[in-house]
Amino acid sequence: MEMFVDKVRITVCGGRGGDGAVAFHREKYVASGGPDGGDGGHGGSVILRVNDNLSTLLDFRYKRKYAAQSGANGAGRNMSGKRGESLIIQVPRGTVVRDAATNQIIADMSTGEDFVLAKGGRGGWGNAHYATPTRQIPRFAKAGLPGQERDVVLELKLLADVGLVGFPNVGKSTLLSVTSNARPKIANYHFTTLYPNLGVIYVEEGVSFVMADIPGIIEGAAEGAGLGHDFLRHIDRCRLLVHVVDAAGSEDRDPVADFDAICAELHNYSVDLSNRPMMVAANKCDLLPPDSDNLQRLREHVEAAGCEFYEISAATTKGTRHLVQAIAEKLRTLPPVTIYEPDYVEAEPEIADPQKLEIEHLGNTWVITGLWLERLIMNINFDDYESRNFFDLQLRKCGLFARLEEMGIQDGDVVDIYDFQFEYQR
Ligand code: GDP
Ligand code: MG
Repeated sequence: MEMFVDKVRITVCGGRGGDGAVAFHREKYVASGGPDGGDGGHGGSVILRVNDNLSTLLDFRYKRKYAAQSGANGAGRNMSGKRGESLIIQVPRGTVVRDAATNQIIADMSTGEDFVLAKGGRGGWGNAHYATPTRQIPRFAKAGLPGQERDVVLELKLLADVGLVGFPNVGKSTLLSVTSNARPKIANYHFTTLYPNLGVIYVEEGVSFVMADIPGIIEGAAEGAGLGHDFLRHIDRCRLLVHVVDAAGSEDRDPVADFDAICAELHNYSVDLSNRPMMVAANKCDLLPPDSDNLQRLREHVEAAGCEFYEISAATTKGTRHLVQAIAEKLRTLPPVTIYEPDYVEAEPEIADPQKLEIEHLGNTWVITGLWLERLIMNINFDDYESRNFFDLQLRKCGLFARLEEMGIQDGDVVDIYDFQFEYQR
């Protein structure tokens, strides 16, 4: 059986930055060459990219760890290490990425823009950077920084304007197949639809919408009775729900009770979804016994609930054209498909104990290293003013400068923090 996978947890890791090199220029007849150790290459990043040919997250079931390539180490003669290659992970459009620990949204892969999920570590500087007229021979270089590591949950939330809901076997797949380019599986038994189908419906020149058919909701899905609630998340984004009811009650069912049962299930799943605009398609009207009052009862009930009501027969396509036009008309009045705003906040690294930072004093340069700094610096964009300010504030808060004072730092000395340097001014 073809498997549909719509939620997975994976670990991604940016590549480690390469180490900077310690080396000295050597040439025949030249007494003492200067430092020429090159920088380590930056680690590659893990990047998410939308691929419209994908429709499930199946591939992620078999591979849970994704790591980009490390940067190569620097070498003598000012040779920089090669940058690590980025790893591109393809996902279906509509994949929502959450932080596994907090469930906060990191990204919504709906717009088609690439997203850097785990940054590669910066390469360390080689000792060539540390050559200044006043400095002693720099016998140090920097190690590369580790790449960012993240545990995330990928969840597929289809991008459809319209979601079909209703009991199994009421004709949802049939309706989608006769109105769109989709060819879902149709059969007279329950749960033939095991994964969602998307169909594009062309209404007229320049007007179209996307409709999703999901496996039937069954009563008691809330209590874990089988397929059901899990699939409702696919219609979370839909602008409009079309509730298909078997008006003929062809399986000895009461259409009014069916309608209420599905509405209750939607409500159980999410109040938000149960408040979504809804239209009702009373299907299988071709099967209605002449003496049945089903249609009349259903219409009154549905209209009292504030929903528009359409009689159709998906099998004979009677009324389907009219329904499609009504849907298009309604969609014109509704807001666009929801794109989730990221609400993930990077946890601020805890303020470090300055005693835990390593301080090396080399000539007039103070080289600071430490795990806390590695983590902090990974998230600082030194081209960005606010980001730099934040960095400065963190350094002040942790008491680094007070400790440097204690150790005798002078105005004009250089403070060196990984590949970031500045002149100290009291
Ligand atoms: P789903 O489970 O809601 O997707 O239902 P399907 O579309 O798979 O249809 C279930 C069964 O009902 C199939 O045998 C269809 O041929 C049949 N069916 C669907 N719509 C109609 C209709 O309007 N009239 C009749 N007579 N049968 C229909
Ligand atoms: Mg179906």
